[in-house]
Amino acid sequence: MAKYQIATIEGDGIGPEVCRAAVKVLQEACGLDMLAFNDFPGGAAHYVKSGAVLPEDTFNACKQSHAILHGAAGLPEVTYPDGTEVGNDLHLQLRFKLDLYANVRPIRLYQGDFSPLKNRTAGEIDYIIIRENTEGLYASRGAGVLLRGEVATDTLVMTRKGVERVAKFAFELSRKRHGAPADGKRRVTVCDKANILRSYAFFRAVCTDVAQGYPDIELDYAYADAITVHLIKRPDFYDVIVAENMFGDVISDLGAATVGGMGIAPSGELGDHNGLFQGAHGSAPDITGLNVASPLATILSGALMLRWLADRHADQALLDAAQRIETSVEKTLAQGRAIPRDLGGMASCTEVTAEICRNL
Ligand code: ATP
Repeated sequence: MAKYQIATIEGDGIGPEVCRAAVKVLQEACGLDMLAFNDFPGGAAHYVKSGAVLPEDTFNACKQSHAILHGAAGLPEVTYPDGTEVGNDLHLQLRFKLDLYANVRPIRLYQGDFSPLKNRTAGEIDYIIIRENTEGLYASRGAGVLLRGEVATDTLVMTRKGVERVAKFAFELSRKRHGAPADGKRRVTVCDKANILRSYAFFRAVCTDVAQGYPDIELDYAYADAITVHLIKRPDFYDVIVAENMFGDVISDLGAATVGGMGIAPSGELGDHNGLFQGAHGSAPDITGLNVASPLATILSGALMLRWLADRHADQALLDAAQRIETSVEKTLAQGRAIPRDLGGMASCTEVTAEICRNL
């Protein structure tokens, strides 16, 4: 029996193709006796067939597995009566039920001409956004109020416990890194709108309290609107950014755009017991079934998964495999033979995957 059981949910749209690509690379990098992948149904199309976006068996398997790898979920035409998309409930339910409070979103520029920013080269953009994943504005999904068709409200939720744990996560992560590319300083930037709303002022105050325990790390603040400018003009200033749920969602798409787009942005959603890994992008229905999706985000999410497992189980072999996958992605992009379409190349999803496997 393989050492680690990984539950996969391929999902909708490009989900299956990018998920299979990541499984292929992970198997190649780790060998068959290390990881066993068990696929489970879930997503918007499954909801249409069965009425369940995250079936109970799928949830139980996810909970019991060592880690969860997901393609993507959601189809724009599959909605609830209030207009919200059904597919999002797959990862939202996993997030809330498994308490995956820290959403780790690395933003890294690779060698090649991939940034829309002028004169930015590999190594100059290398920061991680920690998106608080269980509170903030999205916590009230499904519980908003629509009054007489005239007024709609959703409540922004912050708790001391919730903010403290994600802030600690951000500071601990900064400690393990090498600092910001511009000056080598370990730095945590707190992203909020503390100037406008009490809840964000509370977020900032709790982060500031947590920072007292990390005198070796510079504490920095940025308003959510201002940071959209900074991430374009001086992305090399950033090391780790911790943000409220919705702001983290928005700025991580912006960050992804600065390094080439959604197709290269990985994501890991971590709790104390479980981890869910998927590209930061959605199911991209516009390019489904064309074999043109970039598998890089999901492959890099797979490498994040290995790093997380390696840490939890003190397993050097997993860490080595993660490193090999990341180096192979780096090499593939630098060689320029198999560049995915969204990064300006012509390679299909399967060609990119094959090249990454070769370069392992
Ligand atoms: P969600 O809200 O579920 O995150 P979204 O509505 O933001 O989804 P995506 O599915 O992420 O939208 O797609 C946004 C754009 O990015 C689309 O044009 C899509 O084709 C493109 N895109 C997303 N993922 C990839 C990928 N892996 N490779 C290439 N293009 C992608």
